[in-house]
Amino acid sequence: MAFLNVLLFGSLAGLATLLGIYLIVKQEKWAQKNLIYLISFSAGVLLSFSFVHLLPEALDQSKGALFVALISFLAFYILEHALTLHTCEEGGECPPHETFTLVSWVGLFVHSLIDGVVIGAGFEVSFALGILSTLAVLLHELPEGVSSMAIMLYGGYSVREAIKYSVWVALATPFGAVISFLLLGKTNSGLVGLLLAVAAGSFLYVAASDLIPEIHKKSRVLNIFLTLLGALVPFIATFLLV
Ligand SMILES: [Zn+2]
Repeated sequence: MAFLNVLLFGSLAGLATLLGIYLIVKQEKWAQKNLIYLISFSAGVLLSFSFVHLLPEALDQSKGALFVALISFLAFYILEHALTLHTCEEGGECPPHETFTLVSWVGLFVHSLIDGVVIGAGFEVSFALGILSTLAVLLHELPEGVSSMAIMLYGGYSVREAIKYSVWVALATPFGAVISFLLLGKTNSGLVGLLLAVAAGSFLYVAASDLIPEIHKKSRVLNIFLTLLGALVPFIATFLLV
């Protein structure tokens, strides 16, 4: 039963990435204008979910959880720093940069894989944590599909190729969910805890360093409200699920 949940909810998260790809191909103007609301909301969910659910649960399962979360946050920072070093100089020409594009793609792929792992590890701990993990992943997967497409198109790839690469990013989530669930037994709670900590570091990084700076660019009161509303979701979900 738990395995079916992992498969179902992992696939749902993957579908959200596919929807993001579809939006940027078919409804680019609408997406550019409205995605910021979803981004605001999901930044709140990711932050709150990491602090309220993921970190305490990880700490319950493994003593080293907070240290691993810190390492994970820093590793994502260094990875992204290495990736953005190659972007074009301000005001200069931006030639398509295949290496940069491919490395960025690998970064997104790894991130999506970890999104899957947190769903798998979440269901390993409990149904409620599995559902909450799915929710946190699901909400930011749509913008992720959009950024995957944007990176590939900016890198000079054709729409067809960009879709192909982005679909791999989408597939990484259900794949990560199923593999982690199958590999993690209930006996190995220390490892589950460490994986939840890695995911918390990744979520905190995405929220604080990718999503919130994006919100700042178009900040309105509505965005602040949506971020706070998102931060309330994990608390409301606790009441409903636990
Ligand atoms: Zn993600």
